[in-house]
Amino acid sequence: MSPSPARITAVDTYDIRFPTSRELDGSDAMNPDPDYSAAYVVLRTDAADGHEGHGFTFTIGRGNEVQVAAIEALRGHVVGRPVDELCADPGTLNRDLIGDSQLRWLGPEKGVMHMAIGAVVNAVWDLAARRAGKPLWQLLAGAEPEWLVRQIDFRYLTDALTPEEALTILRRGREGAEERTARLLERGYPAYTTSPGWLGYDDAKLTRLATQAVADGFRQIKLKVGADLDDDIRRCRVARAVVGPDVRMAIDANQRWDVDEAIRWTKALTEFDPYWIEEPTSPDDILGHAAIRRAVAPVKVATGEHAHNRIVFKQLLQAGAIDVLQLDAARVGGVNENLAILLLAAKFGVPVCPHAGGVGLCELVQHLAMFDYLAVSGTTDDRVVEYVDHLHDHFLDPVRIRDGHYLAPTAPGFSAAMRPESIARYTFPDGTFWAADRDDTNKKGQAA
Ligand SMILES: [Mg+2]
Repeated sequence: MSPSPARITAVDTYDIRFPTSRELDGSDAMNPDPDYSAAYVVLRTDAADGHEGHGFTFTIGRGNEVQVAAIEALRGHVVGRPVDELCADPGTLNRDLIGDSQLRWLGPEKGVMHMAIGAVVNAVWDLAARRAGKPLWQLLAGAEPEWLVRQIDFRYLTDALTPEEALTILRRGREGAEERTARLLERGYPAYTTSPGWLGYDDAKLTRLATQAVADGFRQIKLKVGADLDDDIRRCRVARAVVGPDVRMAIDANQRWDVDEAIRWTKALTEFDPYWIEEPTSPDDILGHAAIRRAVAPVKVATGEHAHNRIVFKQLLQAGAIDVLQLDAARVGGVNENLAILLLAAKFGVPVCPHAGGVGLCELVQHLAMFDYLAVSGTTDDRVVEYVDHLHDHFLDPVRIRDGHYLAPTAPGFSAAMRPESIARYTFPDGTFWAADRDDTNKKGQAA
């Protein structure tokens, strides 16, 4: 009798929170006090190789326990799956998770439940890449176009992108991939930095960090805007003076405005030559984005970090609503759905500049951008991945930035695994950091 195949034996979850709100890191017009958090999942197997699959989705504090509960609701679909089959075809699990007829009511394909699917699906890809002994970007770039197309759920997409068109894009995308791989390994993938521009930073800190960004080789920075117009005018003037005319400066309103207000406010900042206005209004308002885009050109309109799924991206593209598509590795249903989104962007000729930052989003999304360069769009022109110099030390394979570029990861996997000691310290509410913090607060309360 042959031994039974290795299976997924456990789906372990963790509520991990970092106290970032205390330094105003990550502060913007809608999110003044985020505690960057991860609803984190580990897939364990009984395979002899000992590999695990790590994945997570990003939240900003309260509610992370809801996100963790959503991941746990998927456990029954995952435990017991044969590891070989799962890793050979993550698309089947992806469809099963999206298709759960009862859980689907909570979306469909949007919000907490869909983000949970993204965390689990990404963990499967991490496991698959580890077992293949390759970083995920390399696994994807080396995959057969036919197999990649089978990984995509084309439901609701075929009026904009058919499997045949996707196959054509992917076959064409392979041309010259060898040269691009060599270039990627040597130079990396262009990044831009948001570190100088958090809304809670004073002008001195903005000046210091923007100066540093240019010295570090970044050719684009980003500033948060949208709380107070006079402040924004002053901060944009300060930043533009620091970086000079040749470094691109994007601005990001984090959904703060109504459509007319977005147009007025963006126009009031055009003298500082903003490259794009990001999330000017509700992420669901496709026609609103289109109206803003028409009104504020040549300033570009960018969005996507809060776009629920591939259907929203399809409509943003069909409506001519965006100049820059900002997919996020952990907002939609994981790698499979992001393959669809990358191909949609390629079909419509819109550059993808992924959202990152948060906890571990840089670690994840670099793989997708590098795959796009090698096997889909074939270019880095007008493409940059967001970079925030923050919380990378908690990861076992942290991003490496050199001269304003992400260096290609070399370790097998999706760069998703957090250090065990970080998980132990920042698990909420009983990790060592949070337990000590609670003791401190209690003591202060008693002393007062
Ligand atoms: Mg943003």
